[in-house]
Amino acid sequence: MRVFPIHIERPYAASSVLLDHPPDHQAGDPLRDRLARPFTDLRISVTDRCNFRCVYCMPRTAFGPGHAFLPHAALLSFEELARLARLFAGLGMRKLRITGGEPLMRKDLPQLIGMLSAMQQDEGPPFDIAMTTNGSLLARHAAALKAAGLRRVTVSLDALDPKVFRTMSDTETPVDTVLEGIHQAHAAGLGPVKVNMVVRRGHNDRQILPMAEYFSRAGMELRFIEYMDVGSTNGWRTDEVTTAKEILAVLRQRFDLVPLPRESGDTAMRFIDRASGARFGIIASITSPFCGDCTRLRLSSDGQLHTCLFGANSHDLRARVRRGDDDEALRKFVARLWQERGDRYSEARAHHLQAASTPRAEMSYIGG
Ligand code: SAM
Ligand code: SF4
Ligand code: SF4
Repeated sequence: MRVFPIHIERPYAASSVLLDHPPDHQAGDPLRDRLARPFTDLRISVTDRCNFRCVYCMPRTAFGPGHAFLPHAALLSFEELARLARLFAGLGMRKLRITGGEPLMRKDLPQLIGMLSAMQQDEGPPFDIAMTTNGSLLARHAAALKAAGLRRVTVSLDALDPKVFRTMSDTETPVDTVLEGIHQAHAAGLGPVKVNMVVRRGHNDRQILPMAEYFSRAGMELRFIEYMDVGSTNGWRTDEVTTAKEILAVLRQRFDLVPLPRESGDTAMRFIDRASGARFGIIASITSPFCGDCTRLRLSSDGQLHTCLFGANSHDLRARVRRGDDDEALRKFVARLWQERGDRYSEARAHHLQAASTPRAEMSYIGG
């Protein structure tokens, strides 16, 4: 097995002492977990369906025609989602990211964005609403999403070369459709548009420089993601991870990169090219885990709350909503869950403390 050097280039705050009990919570302070991390971010997956079959996320072998996706009745309705979002806002949420599956596969998504955006200031300071999408349906929805109140989009794109794009994403959608989506999102004011590229050794690592050059010219931040061991269907292997250090070395063949100061809660190490001002990010969850800084909760489309991308355990919020729990009971339940949270899977993996075979949910289910 390949062993990775950890904490390269710019270390994240490693999570420190795991408290036996959650820290005391004072009214008005952020809710903190057992590693003293505040809750500030929520990712809501609005569907488990997707029109792509990216080989690292929804391989056709596991997500083929026989796969049972969630029935519509299992999904949280827009009203249920809006109610929960208001509750999370009251608990300290400052960033809300809509994801999936492919979020634009959820019918009438701009309507949900409108409902979320309308309640932004009901509970304390406004929260930022963003979305992660594969971009295939973005061109036709960008203007409506913006009008509904969406602030920014991040588009996932793993290659410019049509053949490489097709093998990575296993789709008939042409790469030009995604590029058109990116440019329409920018034109609609859903910027600054960020682009995420998962780098898988031997599959699309030769696209690092062409992608970097294209998006630096377009004035958009490109972020490279180390291929992760999420879910249990992608056959993840350590030797297919192109590490942050290797990605940086490739970028430095062409760009004169200087590290940028870290933004709190941001998962990416960021760099700027001295000559052009182009910005890049690298999300190094394998070689430089950022659990110490992890302020996120994830809500699946059927209302399961996950305190960690890799956690096997989920907590059934939908059951509590549908049996009639009032806001106070739901708030207490979520607050307690956060306060008892001690997850730090990526750090544990990096230190070989946790078996790589820990059962965990698929990325397309709980959202990236
Ligand atoms: N369908 C949307 C998209 O692709 O942007 C949103 C959901 S997707 C699960 C969210 C992000 O997870 C994408 O940027 C995708 O590249 C990333 N992702 C999925 N599987 C991954 C893996 N095994 N390693 C790293 N990133 C992964
Ligand atoms: Fe779909 Fe996004 Fe997963 Fe690709 S990464 S299969 S686009 S959910
Ligand atoms: Fe957060 Fe879990 Fe990822 Fe660590 S492994 S950064 S705790 S989601």
